[in-house]
Amino acid sequence: MAAMLKLESVSHAYLGGQGTALAVEEVNLEVLTGEFVSLVGPSGCGKTTILNLLAGLFPPSRGHVLLDGKPVQGPDVRVGYMLQQDYLFPWRTIKSNALIGFEIRGEQSEKAERKVLDLLRELGLDGSAERYPQELSGGMRQRAALVRTLAGEPDVLLLDEPFSALDMHIKLQLEELVWQALRKRGKTAVLVTHDLQEAAAMSDKIVVLAANPGRVERVITVPESIRQAGPSASRKLADFEPLVGQLWTQVAEYDAGPAGGAAYEQ
Ligand code: ADP
Ligand code: MG
Repeated sequence: MAAMLKLESVSHAYLGGQGTALAVEEVNLEVLTGEFVSLVGPSGCGKTTILNLLAGLFPPSRGHVLLDGKPVQGPDVRVGYMLQQDYLFPWRTIKSNALIGFEIRGEQSEKAERKVLDLLRELGLDGSAERYPQELSGGMRQRAALVRTLAGEPDVLLLDEPFSALDMHIKLQLEELVWQALRKRGKTAVLVTHDLQEAAAMSDKIVVLAANPGRVERVITVPESIRQAGPSASRKLADFEPLVGQLWTQVAEYDAGPAGGAAYEQ
């Protein structure tokens, strides 16, 4: 299958007060169409930098970023981005927040509204369409942010720790909802997470990064049985705990920090 996203020998340095700092070095990465890939690794290893490069927020200092075989020139409507913070506008209802992309593009229509209402229903928010973000729980707000992202029908979803601020049971529910919604639509996804169980449960492929400078240490292909099962079912499979154990060992090994992997919960 063709690569939807590709990083070719990508290095990126940020300009700062003390000169330049190399954030990622010589990163090669391929995400196939419809694939779900997670990026894991210690804080500061360049996970967000890689997502921002894929989103076209800035060009890499060196190397090439490709979307569907073509160089990324800037933000693209085919790429949706979801963050830990939901950036819902407090003065707009959930429905109106979800419709904002259509508004910006001057594409308001009954069809757009129907699409948003269908998505709200699919994600269990049909009763909240006319409510405001501050009236909703964290998990509901993240679902609303997902509706807004999916409404634009992106081919690719970039997810930067979207579940990390949520309570455990809400997080598990959301993992399942997001996985099902993306799989059903054949979307390509790149998830950044601190949670190795989450990476194991959701992904087809897990990229383990190391820091100083950020680089790819290993790419782990998730066993077929886990790939085919949704996140909840995956956790019950015999292959699951060994996979998490393998990830845990590798991330701890590459975490150069003094606490050596202490940031990870097994
Ligand atoms: P992660 O998401 O894995 O925690 P980041 O991509 O945020 O890592 O950061 C990678 C490295 O680049 C870190 O050393 C960080 O301090 C540095 N960095 C990130 N963003 C900037 C920026 N805007 N300016 C300067 N340095 C940055
Ligand atoms: Mg980050």
